[in-house]
Amino acid sequence: MTDKPVNIVLIGAGIMSATLGVLLRKLMPEAQITIFERLERVAAESSDPWNNAGTGHSAFCELNYTPMDDAGVVDVSKALEIAHSFEVSKELWAYLVESGAVPYETPFINSVPHMSVVWGDENVAFLKKRYEAMRAHPVFQDMQFSDERDQISQWAPLVMQGRQDNEAVAATRMDAGTDVNFGMITREMVAYLQRSGSVEVCLNHEVNGLTRGDDGGWQIEVENCASKESREVFADYVFIGAGGGTIKLLDMSGIDEAVGYAGFPISGHFLHCTNPDVIQQHSAKVYGKAEVGSPPMSVPHLDCRIIADERTLFFGPYAGFTTKFLKSGSYMDLPLSIEMHNVWPLLSAGMKNVDLAKYLIEQVTNSFEDRFKALLVYYPQANMDDWQELVAGQRVQIIKKDDNSGGELKFGTEIVCSADCSIAALLGASPGASTSVSIMLEVLAKMFPQKIASKEWQPAIRSMIPSYGELLLEDGDLCLATRARTSSILQLGARPGR
Ligand SMILES: Cc1cc2nc3c(=O)[nH]c(=O)nc-3n(C[C@H](O)[C@H](O)[C@H](O)COP(=O)(O)OP(=O)(O)OC[C@H]3O[C@@H](n4cnc5c(N)ncnc54)[C@H](O)[C@@H]3O)c2cc1C
Repeated sequence: MTDKPVNIVLIGAGIMSATLGVLLRKLMPEAQITIFERLERVAAESSDPWNNAGTGHSAFCELNYTPMDDAGVVDVSKALEIAHSFEVSKELWAYLVESGAVPYETPFINSVPHMSVVWGDENVAFLKKRYEAMRAHPVFQDMQFSDERDQISQWAPLVMQGRQDNEAVAATRMDAGTDVNFGMITREMVAYLQRSGSVEVCLNHEVNGLTRGDDGGWQIEVENCASKESREVFADYVFIGAGGGTIKLLDMSGIDEAVGYAGFPISGHFLHCTNPDVIQQHSAKVYGKAEVGSPPMSVPHLDCRIIADERTLFFGPYAGFTTKFLKSGSYMDLPLSIEMHNVWPLLSAGMKNVDLAKYLIEQVTNSFEDRFKALLVYYPQANMDDWQELVAGQRVQIIKKDDNSGGELKFGTEIVCSADCSIAALLGASPGASTSVSIMLEVLAKMFPQKIASKEWQPAIRSMIPSYGELLLEDGDLCLATRARTSSILQLGARPGR
């Protein structure tokens, strides 16, 4: 069976494809867009709120975004970039809410203050320096710092109760921090696209073949996972937003730009609190410092979460190793992804990351009791009976060929786009969903380089993202005005939840 041509195919129904779909719907209303998703639900992998930590990454509390050099200078450039991206994401979400495109009776984003808490003289000195470096920028100007135990106890009582009095402790706090239900905003965006009429969403449909056609377009093989029937679809443009499944599909595409990429899966676990009395006592996201050798995404945090209007409490994530690329994937994912073009980058990156390998192996062998011990560092009076273990989503880190060193393991995200701009893929998962709007604007710039600069697209983008094209972080007034506007539309205040 062969369909008539469609214009654009988006593979995967997570937050990335949903965001790209919304942008394309506005910029190319005439385009026929089809989304293929292998699972029976939208946002069932990493974008689901129970599979990620829900932190609206603004660099308020994540200490790994502000490294300090040997001279004691704290570099805030990465933090500024991430803070900027999150303001942009809130702009698109505010546009969707204000225009009525998505309902907002139950908010998908809530105010939850972001805190960093550290112990020991050296870490306290670092936090103070970081606070001073950050506060100079309007986007962080409301950050508070304290090394007073009483103040920190008010901000995060569970973290301070039962802690030794003689230990130096310090914390920063940003009331503008948020918790985001990325699954909910994804589902609302996809529902909006379906209602718009020109977007077809095919759930239970797995893409398992991608071939370039003679006309430069793409021939896509799709299997209906329920009936096992296969069909071919044709597209002028393809975006691979398949999360952990992207590396395999990118390889199938055969584009030159895919050569030398490999994936390295890192699994996640959380501890989840089941005691409502305890949950009510913690109303912030409290981030600490990562252990030596641990990957950046396993920085421990004790998080107030708001999932579908219900407050809850997570601790983690604990990183681990599995060979699956998706939570619902197969143990053969990693072995089957190894090919001639990526075996050396993979081995070479492995040899250079022995600390990480040791850390992950240790984590895999950890019992519930071991994981509970890590929680006690953040919540000394925790009761084991109040906590359960949750399996979170999978992250597939990028391993990229490097002509000098063989291969490098990368913790960020990367867009791979063919020279003719007809296919693009998103690899990696960090900082993740929080920066989805900026990342998808970059995808548009790579796939449609002429159109993005056109007099039709520029005002259309600005109608959704008014700060688009402005140097938001360098213009303090614009940055604060933008935050005030989106906070008002998204009903964000100082209190956790509404
Ligand atoms: C433990 C953990 C904690 C995290 N915490 C945060 C956080 O606090 N803040 C933050 O901003 N980000 C966080 N992230 C990252 C964030 O969750 C991801 O960056 C984001 O959800 C990725 O969205 P996506 O659309 O790319 O992928 P996904 O949401 O994984 O969606 C990809 C979809 O593609 C589908 N698919 C795969 N292969 C195929 C195929 N062949 N055919 C059809 N469909 C296919 C999958 O079923 C899936 O539904 C976290 C991630 C993890 C794992």
